[in-house]
Formats: sequence, C-alpha cells, structure tokens
Amino acid sequence: MNEQRNPDVVIVGGGAAGSSAALVLGRARADVTLIDAGRPSNSPSTGIGGLLGNDGTEPADFYRRATEELAAYPTITRRRATVEAIHSEGSPRWRLELDDGDTVLTDRLLLATGMAYTLPSIDGLEERWGASVFHCPFCHGWEHRDQPLGMLGGPAERALLLRRWTNDLTLITHGTDLTDEEVERLEARGIRIVDGEVVSLDGPGRDIAYVTLADDTRLPLRGLMVAAPHRFRQPQLFSSLDLAITPSGHIRVDEVGATSVAGVWAVGDLTSPMASVARAIAAGSTAAAAITHDLVAAS
Ligand SMILES: Cc1cc2nc3c(=O)[nH]c(=O)nc-3n(C[C@H](O)[C@H](O)[C@H](O)COP(=O)(O)OP(=O)(O)OC[C@H]3O[C@@H](n4cnc5c(N)ncnc54)[C@H](O)[C@@H]3O)c2cc1C
Repeated sequence: MNEQRNPDVVIVGGGAAGSSAALVLGRARADVTLIDAGRPSNSPSTGIGGLLGNDGTEPADFYRRATEELAAYPTITRRRATVEAIHSEGSPRWRLELDDGDTVLTDRLLLATGMAYTLPSIDGLEERWGASVFHCPFCHGWEHRDQPLGMLGGPAERALLLRRWTNDLTLITHGTDLTDEEVERLEARGIRIVDGEVVSLDGPGRDIAYVTLADDTRLPLRGLMVAAPHRFRQPQLFSSLDLAITPSGHIRVDEVGATSVAGVWAVGDLTSPMASVARAIAAGSTAAAAITHDLVAAS
C-alpha cells in the first residue's frame, strides 16, 4: 500500500464538475489530486446539447480536451482510479482508499462523483439511451424536433414541455394515472394519449422505428422521452461523512457547494436533479473559488 502525501484538495470524480473545479484550483496554485473512474454519465450520448462553445460536441471529445487542459498544470495530479471508501480521521481529516490499493489523505474533499440515472426496464431501451431515448428535452429536444415522439408515462407537465419541440407527440400512459384536467390540457395541445405499457423498442442501430405495447400495438416513433431519476452511484461511499441530504435524495449544499460537513464540498449532479453540463461546470468553478479562500484562511 502506498500512502500519498496530503494534497490541499482531493476531488473525487473527474466529469464536468470535478474537472472544472480542478482547473480553477490548479490555476490558483492549489495542490490538487483528482481521482476519476472515467465514466461520466453522458458518455452514451451522441452530443452535448446546449453547452455554449461546445454545443453538439461528442462527450468523448469534450472529456479528452478537458483532460488535456488539466495536464498542462503541474499543480494538478490526475489519477485513473475509483475511491472505494472514505474514512473520517483526526488530522488530516480524511483517508481515501482507492481500488488500486493506494491511500490518499486530505483535509479538503470535493465530491463530484455524479449520479446514476435509473432507466425503465424495457427491452431495447438501454442501448438507445443518449441517442433516440432521452430524459432532458433541453439537451436532446432540438435534435428530435418535428419528429414523431413518444413520452413514457407522466407527468403531464413534461409532455406539455416536450410539445415545444414537436407537434407529433404521443403520451403512453405506462402505468401513469392522468386526471381529467390533465387529459383536457394534453388534448388541447394536440398530444395523443395511448393507454398502454411499452414492452420493447425496435429500429436500426440506436434509432427507434417503432415501440411495441403489451397488447402488440406498434407505434411508429423516432424518439422516446423517459423519466430517469437520479440515485447515488455508491451510497456507502458517503456513509462515514454523515452528510445532510435533500428531499430529492441529493447532497445538500450552499451556494458555493459547501456541504453540512466542514471541509467537504459537493458539486454537479450529486447536488441537484437539475442536471446539465453547464451547471456542473459552473458549480465546480464556484466551489473551487470557495476552497481557495478556505486555503487562504488556513494559511
Ligand atoms: C445520457 C445523458 C445525456 C445527457 N445529455 C446532456 C446534454 O446534452 N447537455 C447537458 O447539458 N447535459 C446533459 N446531460 C447531463 C450531464 O451530462 C450531467 O449533468 C453532467 O455530466 C454531470 O456532471 P458531473 O461531473 O456531476 O457527473 P459525471 O459527468 O457523471 O462525472 C462523474 C465522474 O465521477 C466518476 N466517479 C464516480 N464515482 C467515483 C469514485 N468512487 N471514484 C472515482 N471516480 C468516481 C465517474 O466515473 C465520472 O467520471 C446528460 C446526461 C445523461 C445521463
């Protein structure tokens, strides 16, 4: 086992949020160790929608360029590893165990491990996730504009939102109960309602040609919007930290990313269901400035 010296900050997770924080901290001459398992949540996506300066960039290109930018700074050490456990200590405050057998000590911890997106279990859905199956109309609606689209279940508000991008929209109830008022609002906007359960998606490659319902009805669609609620990737990772959690199941943070535990910050998807690369980058940058002030206060 190789026990590493105590860097100023350890960032766990090097997606958009963690890499943004590393960049700002590294430029502020903090000694940063970034530990990243290398599986950002949007990896299956065909392109990043709505990120200024990178609109439509393939995620692999985006993360490659981010890694190259960080590599230019001698203040940033990037490690490809998974943090398997975080132990509260005396001083330094935390000891991290990595899957490669190493241990890292630190007094300042920035959590940026992202979230798992929970997908409906439907034949043919997972392999189309990030292409013809999507959860965020702001991210992928433009690429599917004016196409025949489906929405899997409720809520009705989400269907009314998706209606901005197409006038050929079918809400498949898939177990969702709609009130009479909701049906009226949906129909008033020309949204078809099909009472049924989707059992499979078919089409060439990652495209959808049609979805099949439990009663064998086939609906010709080109895209399907689903709900994909967040859950912690490794809930046990944070158990020793005793962090405050929001009602939506995210880590509670203040406006600069400070958690309920002194010396621990959290950014990106970990902290909010409002997930976007732009928000993750902004949160990482903001927390990095706050951590830099913490370093100044401690010096
Ligand atoms: C399919 C899909 C498509 C999307 N499309 C868009 C879009 O077009 N536009 C947009 O703005 N947003 C989009 N989003 C949302 C956006 O990708 C996320 O909000 C954003 O990437 C979150 O960044 P993050 O850094 O918090 O987490 P992530 O990007 O998930 O990065 C977390 C990193 O931490 C690593 N990690 C996790 N656990 C550990 C550990 N224990 N030790 C070390 N490393 C660890 C992971 O491997 C990963 O590299 C999409 C999301 C998905 C799922």
